[in-house]
Amino acid sequence: MGQAQAKPQPKKRVLVVGAGAAGTSCAWSLSRFPERFEVEVWEALPVPGGVASSCTVKEGKHVINDQVQGGAPSYRHNLRLLEMFGFKPTPVLMRIAFGVGTKQWTNHSPSELTSRLQPEISRFGRVIKWIKRLEPLFVFVPIDRVLRLLRFSHEFRYEMVFPLVALFFGTGNQTPRVSAAVIARVFLDPDLRLFDYCPDRLLNSVPEMFAFPVLEEVWSTIARRSNFQLCCNRPLAKLRRTPGGGVIATDAAGVTASFDEVVFACDAEAVLKTLENPTWLERRLLRNVRYYTDYCLTHEDHDYMARMYDIRPAQRDNYFVRTYAGGDADKIEMSFNLSTYQPHLKAAGLDLYQTYYLDSQMRSLWTDGEVAPSKVLARRWMRQFAHTWTHFAFWVPWVRFIQGTKHTWYCGSYTMVNTQEIAVMSGLAAAERLGADYPFPDDPLAAKQFDTYLAVVHGTRRRNRVGKPAAAAAPPPPPQAVAPVAASASAES
Ligand SMILES: Cc1cc2nc3c(=O)[nH]c(=O)nc-3n(C[C@H](O)[C@H](O)[C@H](O)COP(=O)(O)OP(=O)(O)OC[C@H]3O[C@@H](n4cnc5c(N)ncnc54)[C@H](O)[C@@H]3O)c2cc1C
Repeated sequence: MGQAQAKPQPKKRVLVVGAGAAGTSCAWSLSRFPERFEVEVWEALPVPGGVASSCTVKEGKHVINDQVQGGAPSYRHNLRLLEMFGFKPTPVLMRIAFGVGTKQWTNHSPSELTSRLQPEISRFGRVIKWIKRLEPLFVFVPIDRVLRLLRFSHEFRYEMVFPLVALFFGTGNQTPRVSAAVIARVFLDPDLRLFDYCPDRLLNSVPEMFAFPVLEEVWSTIARRSNFQLCCNRPLAKLRRTPGGGVIATDAAGVTASFDEVVFACDAEAVLKTLENPTWLERRLLRNVRYYTDYCLTHEDHDYMARMYDIRPAQRDNYFVRTYAGGDADKIEMSFNLSTYQPHLKAAGLDLYQTYYLDSQMRSLWTDGEVAPSKVLARRWMRQFAHTWTHFAFWVPWVRFIQGTKHTWYCGSYTMVNTQEIAVMSGLAAAERLGADYPFPDDPLAAKQFDTYLAVVHGTRRRNRVGKPAAAAAPPPPPQAVAPVAASASAES
């Protein structure tokens, strides 16, 4: 008897909500299998990229990345995507000046503070090793509680450990409540750590990072050269899951469309606002992602920088972190020299800064009013989620239980840690769950990180991990009228 011919499967219609790094990566990965998926991306903003955004300053003369700036060499997924679409990152050395006056220290030179606190620095090294060994336990313990219990001084906690973690992880004013296990990873995770722990000065290395090219161009190019439909200026207003399977989406203009699956690649607040019939568990869990409102000024006020930070031109620092005075030592302000990240600005003889003011509930502490208004180039409000221990106790390990509920998937950096690398990985993971093979199995570090993400946030293993390896992603088709890469920050440098 002849074998029955396999019936061709109908294509799955997938809606991706949000075209940030997570949503665009997810849509790109799905779109590599046009015979299986028909993908639409609805984005509220006029351009893709989300917080990986760009704008122009100085009467439109200079393009800058105005939120996301760069990453570490361990950002394998971002680096592979950049390479695949013909973009080049620029190397940047991370030189940080913490504190002012007698509290000043850096990641590259000795200081009075590090000499004074050397015994505590050395003890801290032993403590983080224990935290790492007992990681499952310490995930639920805030770092401040551990350090207080072990009688670390206020100065060591608030002038050294917290500002460093706040800068590295973007944890802002919530840093004392960050899980101790996360802090130990900052120093000890062999794949992810940026700085080697130094028993004498805490930090004694200048890590090489990379700066992204013009990000708006990166994400627009990926969208243009991939096989999915990007609908910008189309915010999702409502999403209903139907009893027969599938979802009905309604945009802000009241236009509806139906899909087989939906991938939420927006923030948790937007999911809760738009999902019409969330299950009890979805509502309960999504509410555990806590957001704070921050503010950023892009400016060229050198006097403000000199007044607020320890600026020593000979040291060529590019990051500046200070804590507020007195009882508010747990609140920080961060600035950095944008021109070191975007060399085309340096070449144009410009020194531009960005200063971040964290948590609008602390607005009375902010010193944004002291930046000369005539020197302000751009202002931006933003919502960022907190990495408190509760995020890792009541959200991250539980997301897996809502993945796939009624054809609904969740991605975005908020599913784990606020980095561009997690955002991209999370999008690829949602695509993999829908049936799009992982694109970078040939890259051991990328695959290892992806597998960890998949295990934690989806509670599953990668298909094709054992047995026949999945093929690595093919390069995209040749560009059709793609804007030249020369317009990117790296190329202009
Ligand atoms: C200011 C700032 C600087 C950062 N700098 C760095 C850095 O230098 N390096 C690093 O590694 N990480 C950095 N991060 C963190 C990291 O880049 C982000 O976590 C990551 O880019 C987030 O990507 P995402 O796709 O998860 O979310 P987003 O970029 O927030 O994308 C979500 C998208 O969903 C859209 N959306 C929301 N609601 C709707 C709706 N109803 N309908 C349709 N669309 C909707 C939004 O418009 C947005 O485009 C930074 C974050 C911020 C905020």
